[in-house]
Amino acid sequence: MKIKAIRTHILQAALSQPFAYSRAWYDSRTAMLVEIETDHGLVGWGECYGPAKMTAAVVESIAPWLIGEDPLRTDYLWQMVYGRLRDHGQKGVVIQGLSGIDIALWDIKGRHFGVPVHQLLGGALRTEVTAYATGLYRRKSGDPVAYLAEEAAGYVAEGFSAVKLKVGFGVHEDAATTRAVREAIGPRVALMVDANHAYDAVAAVKLGRMIEPCDIGWFEEPVPPEDVAGYRAVKSALSIPVAGGECEFTRFGFRDLFVKHALDIVQPDTCAAGGLSECKKIADMAEAFGIRYNPHVWGTGIAIAASLQLLAVLPPHTPLSLKPLEPILEFDRTEHPIRQAILIRPIEHDHGIVRVPDGTGLGIEIDRKALARFAVG
Ligand code: CA
Repeated sequence: MKIKAIRTHILQAALSQPFAYSRAWYDSRTAMLVEIETDHGLVGWGECYGPAKMTAAVVESIAPWLIGEDPLRTDYLWQMVYGRLRDHGQKGVVIQGLSGIDIALWDIKGRHFGVPVHQLLGGALRTEVTAYATGLYRRKSGDPVAYLAEEAAGYVAEGFSAVKLKVGFGVHEDAATTRAVREAIGPRVALMVDANHAYDAVAAVKLGRMIEPCDIGWFEEPVPPEDVAGYRAVKSALSIPVAGGECEFTRFGFRDLFVKHALDIVQPDTCAAGGLSECKKIADMAEAFGIRYNPHVWGTGIAIAASLQLLAVLPPHTPLSLKPLEPILEFDRTEHPIRQAILIRPIEHDHGIVRVPDGTGLGIEIDRKALARFAVG
């Protein structure tokens, strides 16, 4: 079997209401999908996290190197592409492009062997994963203390046992919204906060101390990803676990975070950090360093399916304890017209639990009519 064609799909959809995190406003959602076709007629799908036009250019530049290659040689192809671009793209959009290609190759591999990807990754430890609701963004109008508390209570009513709040809007405002959300969800639902690297270590520690009484599950991206010393300072100052890693890439990048003990929880994005091949290796390293692994997920159903295939095989944290910590799925609840529309069968939650797809490959089927509907240009 040989790779016959590699196609990119840039998709975009306008939002009915803009929303903001600490860095920017969103008024549309985009996606960059990778489609790989073999000479046997098999088609695999992947997705790239990151700026869509740039990742599409990366994938289209890499494509000629892969035409005619055996799609089942996933590690060989990863190494070949990485080796050719090592001098120019150890991080960032090059690895994001490679991630989408790698995920599509795994989809082909699973379909070829007639099994779900998780079986080829070592076999599932679980058939379903607890999901946490990612939402609680800012709106153009209204009092965030009020509307965030109301939104959080809605997730609990849907059955979610964990929610994540966006912070990074000033420590006093963040402390107020965090307290309001904790009050709204009660003591038994997990609450995490995510600053999207809005702070320096001094401000992050100040906020962390203010919200420590709110029983915070983790403090995500408190400081910029390059500031490893800042991560260490925040981690040593707070009793809240520190999380991060959605802006890091490959085993080589994560190695440096792990040896410096900069994180308690690592969050590689499967569609950015190097694909399923690389994220499995990063997960194995994380286990050896005693670091929890919960993937960052911010994409369409392809990104969710790929993340679930990996989540199925991740070991629980502290596996010998009576109540191990299971890895959990980031489940984006913000508006995303493309997310589920491109799947023939959407991946939904049931009371905060999401089943691992058990069809062949990634376990999803793509709706080409939806692709056409959201296609750019
Ligand atoms: Ca995040």
